[in-house]
Amino acid sequence: MPARILDGSAYAAEIRTQVTREVAWYNAHHGAVKLCAVLVGSDATGRLYAESQRKLSVKVGVEYELIELPDSTAEVELLAALDRLNADPTVTGIILQLPLPPHIDTAVAQYHIDPYKDVEGVNPANIGLLFYGQPIIAPCTALAVTELIRRSAVVVRGAHAVVVGQSRIVGRPVTMFLLTQEATVTGCHIATRDLAAHTRQADILVVAIGQPRAIGTQHVRPGAVVIDVGINRITEQSPDGRDVRRTVGDVDFGPVSAIASAITPVPGGVGPLTVAMLLRNTLEAARKQLRRRI
Ligand code: NDP
Repeated sequence: MPARILDGSAYAAEIRTQVTREVAWYNAHHGAVKLCAVLVGSDATGRLYAESQRKLSVKVGVEYELIELPDSTAEVELLAALDRLNADPTVTGIILQLPLPPHIDTAVAQYHIDPYKDVEGVNPANIGLLFYGQPIIAPCTALAVTELIRRSAVVVRGAHAVVVGQSRIVGRPVTMFLLTQEATVTGCHIATRDLAAHTRQADILVVAIGQPRAIGTQHVRPGAVVIDVGINRITEQSPDGRDVRRTVGDVDFGPVSAIASAITPVPGGVGPLTVAMLLRNTLEAARKQLRRRI
């Protein structure tokens, strides 16, 4: 039987509806919820990404401002800009668009965002607090993965979860989240020997490696739940010989969906939920800042 498709877009729409209602209430009683994104340099993708953030923010009633700094911005100048946003009581959430120019240390800049305004959950303080099961604001993609699993009624407690890819922002927080939900978790990474021998043990397989279609049927136990975090832009030849640009995941969706019990599509799986989590985190940040003030 083909896999159940875990529809991240539909779950994201439900979350946005709820966030819209709650933001309206918050705006009316406590003042506007506002997101500020900082973009350093002239990266066109960063600007496109910011534009889509703006549209989605405005749709749920969140104000959005993009602060653009030149490529030549020194690290100390970026930190000063972040300090100003940290201190500004009208700013609820701060997003730092990546990649930063190579002369700026990304981790140093992320560490500079007030953990209460860190709506992407990238400050090491927030990632570290995952160990205690209580981040102030949790990393969006890890939240999206666990929200998808929860809404799909997949049982995590006692399941064997395998997470492939152990980046600081995605793979490791997902690993930690699943551990705190009492799954037995195997963390696979670039040095893992015989990857398939591990992934074939998984009841829940989460893949976040940034390698198009790298995970095939040889990696998946029939009946497993497969969560594909990867977003890869590739060029393929169409049957009539034209180059076609496509977005694909880290999992070879067609064959794997024939043996998995449930699977996320790309696009339309984890991606839209990550953005919904960003908006929910922004509302959560507003509430936490309010509680910090009173
Ligand atoms: P990174 O490149 O930061 O991390 C990928 C990790 O996977 C690295 O630790 C890398 O190891 C490891 N890796 C690479 N190849 C393999 C392999 N064959 N086997 C095991 N481990 C491997 O990427 P991110 O974690 O930020 O993102 C991962 C993917 O998820 C990307 O496609 C990204 O676009 C996507 N993404 C999607 C989001 C969403 O909302 N759906 C949000 C964020 C990211 P090493 O560094 O040693 O090579």
